[in-house]
Amino acid sequence: MTTRRTELFDFIPSKVLAIYAHPDDADVACAGSLAKWVAQGADVHLVVLTDGGKGTHDAATNANTLMTTRSDEVHNAAKALGVQEVELMGIPDGEVASRQNLIEEIVARIRTIRPEIVVSHDPTAVFFGSVYVNHQDHRAGGFAVLDAVAPAAAMPLYFPSRGPAHQVRNVLLSGTLDADCFVDVTDTIDQKVTAVTAHRSQLSDDLEWVAESIRQQAIRDGKVVGVAAAEGFRHLRLDG
Ligand SMILES: [Zn+2]
Repeated sequence: MTTRRTELFDFIPSKVLAIYAHPDDADVACAGSLAKWVAQGADVHLVVLTDGGKGTHDAATNANTLMTTRSDEVHNAAKALGVQEVELMGIPDGEVASRQNLIEEIVARIRTIRPEIVVSHDPTAVFFGSVYVNHQDHRAGGFAVLDAVAPAAAMPLYFPSRGPAHQVRNVLLSGTLDADCFVDVTDTIDQKVTAVTAHRSQLSDDLEWVAESIRQQAIRDGKVVGVAAAEGFRHLRLDG
């Protein structure tokens, strides 16, 4: 049996691409890391696959209003982090799996932005204990990102009209059951709280409880690597 090493990830990138299914996903998963990389001088780009238009349990909600609200929320959150570019691809919420050409669309973004780090969902996480099933958009989106990174974006005969090949060296997968890599977010945890709580449509009214939950999770992850606050990921190192 091989044991994977747990690492403190301190690589300083110049370009980062985060690709997530819903408008709030990146902030919950990795806002502290994104803010840290921005502070270190990186260009950070966020691609949101869906419009988030079904993100409610309230049947009286107007989907178009919700989409507009969620677009505003993700842009406000990005501002708090210093994320340079937010693109909402606008796939209908819940329909990532049936999107034609999604891998090609993601390859196009990777080859244009040319990031050293791609951050996305761990699509292999299905059950979190016995109380949560990972959203199908997270699973379908995560697999599409992996398929776009390896091998498609790195090999020129895949989608040759989408720009020159680019090998992403680091893939960090959040929402994972196998975190082996932790980013120290001690200096940016306050920005994470601001970014996550910008997504008011997705949260209970008790924002103090939300903020405390975010901080407690970061403290738990930080303990793994001996820092005050961290975000955990599964790390893939790809050499091409
Ligand atoms: Zn989501």
